[in-house]
Parts: sequence; C-alpha cells; structure tokens
Amino acid sequence: MNDCLFCKIIAGEIPSKKVYEDELCYAFYDISPLAPTHFLVVPKGHLASAAEITAENAAVVGHIYAVIAKLAKELGFADGFRVVTNCGAAAGQTVHHLHFHVLAGTTLGSFN
Ligand code: 5GP
Ligand code: ZN
Repeated sequence: MNDCLFCKIIAGEIPSKKVYEDELCYAFYDISPLAPTHFLVVPKGHLASAAEITAENAAVVGHIYAVIAKLAKELGFADGFRVVTNCGAAAGQTVHHLHFHVLAGTTLGSFN
C-alpha cells in the first residue's frame, strides 16, 4: 500500500518520533496528542482497520497488546491508560492503516 501514510512512517519515508519497534509492530507519538501520553501502535503489515482482522492474522493484535502492557510498565503509566481503535470513517478513522491509540497521563473521561 504505497500511498498509505502509516506504511510510509513505518518505512521511515515520513519522520516520526519512535516509541518502540520490533519485527511485527511500530509505535510512535501521535502528531496531535489528546493526552499527556498519546502514541499509536501499528502492525507493520498493512491492514486497513480492525474490520480486516481474521483468525489468520489476529496474532499481531495480541502481540500489540502485549507490547502496550510492556510499554505501560516501562513508561510508568500501567496504573491507568486507554487503548482505542477507530474502525471506519463513521467511527472517526482518518488513517486507513490499523492503529491502536494509547492514551495516558491524565484522568480520562468516562467513555460510555
Ligand atoms: P484516527 O483518527 O484514524 O483514529 O487516528 C489517526 C491519528 O493519526 C490521529 O490521532 C492523528 O493525529 C495521527 N496522525 C495523522 N497524521 C500523522 C502523522 O503524519 N504523524 C503522526 N505521528 N501522527 C499522525
Ligand atoms: Zn499502511
């Protein structure tokens, strides 16, 4: 997907502030943070959204959650954080490469 913004960020073609990287995923700070800590975790393989998760490719999602839990401990916000993925334009998704927002560092408002 060569016109995908997050594929370009993963490839280093567009600069980003890296939080973490391994063979399966890349984490980087959101350009417009909505909380004192706000970064995104994306699979390196292009999936448009959570609607494309299948039994065959779902392992990367578990991996990403394990990475998030590890980063929460290392970065000191394991006591409270939120993970959000917007799926589809109607839900506010603006970049169509699966990504998990990680928000922390403040009292997060009730979500439901
Ligand atoms: P969505 O609205 O699709 O759930 O989230 C997309 C997120 O990507 C937004 O929070 C937006 O601020 C962030 N974003 C958009 N373009 C860039 C960029 O070029 N660099 C970084 N680091 N974040 C971006
Ligand atoms: Zn992509």
